[in-house]
Amino acid sequence: MLLYRVGPEGYYAAETTEGALRVLFSDPYEIPPAEWRLGRKLEVEPKGLLAPVAPSKILGIGRNYVQHAKELGNPVPDEPLLFLKAPSSLIGPGASVVLPPESERVEFEGEIAVVLRQRLSRASAEEARAAILGVTCACDVTARDLQRRDATFARGKSFDTFCPVGPALLLEPELDSLSVETRVNGRVRQQGSSSEMIWGVAELLGYASQMMTLEAGDVVLTGTPEGVGPLAPGDELEVEVSGVGVLENRVEAWRQP
Ligand code: ZN
Repeated sequence: MLLYRVGPEGYYAAETTEGALRVLFSDPYEIPPAEWRLGRKLEVEPKGLLAPVAPSKILGIGRNYVQHAKELGNPVPDEPLLFLKAPSSLIGPGASVVLPPESERVEFEGEIAVVLRQRLSRASAEEARAAILGVTCACDVTARDLQRRDATFARGKSFDTFCPVGPALLLEPELDSLSVETRVNGRVRQQGSSSEMIWGVAELLGYASQMMTLEAGDVVLTGTPEGVGPLAPGDELEVEVSGVGVLENRVEAWRQP
């Protein structure tokens, strides 16, 4: 089952296994998909979709794929490397990634994003697995020059528009066999699978919940495979996670408003 949020109102719609998109009357955070009440069929243009989630925080994981740690000249860490992205960096499918004037090198990091269905605090990996609502595509857009210059990742990761997510949430995913692919202008730049992660999805959530309470709707970006590279104005960025669909965003230069 796929869960969408439809603009401009932001109501939920579900795509059932027979392929129809229907208005969802149930609260997806409270009611399991098998018990959802669905309404009329919808015809929605791709550009009518919003980000499928509105998180209170966005947590990122650095260096969760061995080959990506190596390509940036970093050691593989002994524990997951956590960082935060500002919730204000979130954009939905079809919105533009804007390259800020403060950075000379903004890079794409295609990732599998996980969304929590319920609050999680000091949880085990098994408890975390049971608390997942679904997964979606994300791009952890990063100002690499600023990330390298600063002691923390806050600035390099958090410019407005630096976190495209969507287009849908895939519910009840097979967490250990998800694939992710990033394309720029149609060319494949990154390919990875959750089976190659150093720390698996449930393990990461459990680990993060030791430090901070994860709330329903919070988003965790699970790390990027090798192949990261720069973005330029006019680029067409695509991130595809198996079973979710394709997240499409265009890249623009920042302009004085
Ligand atoms: Zn990342």
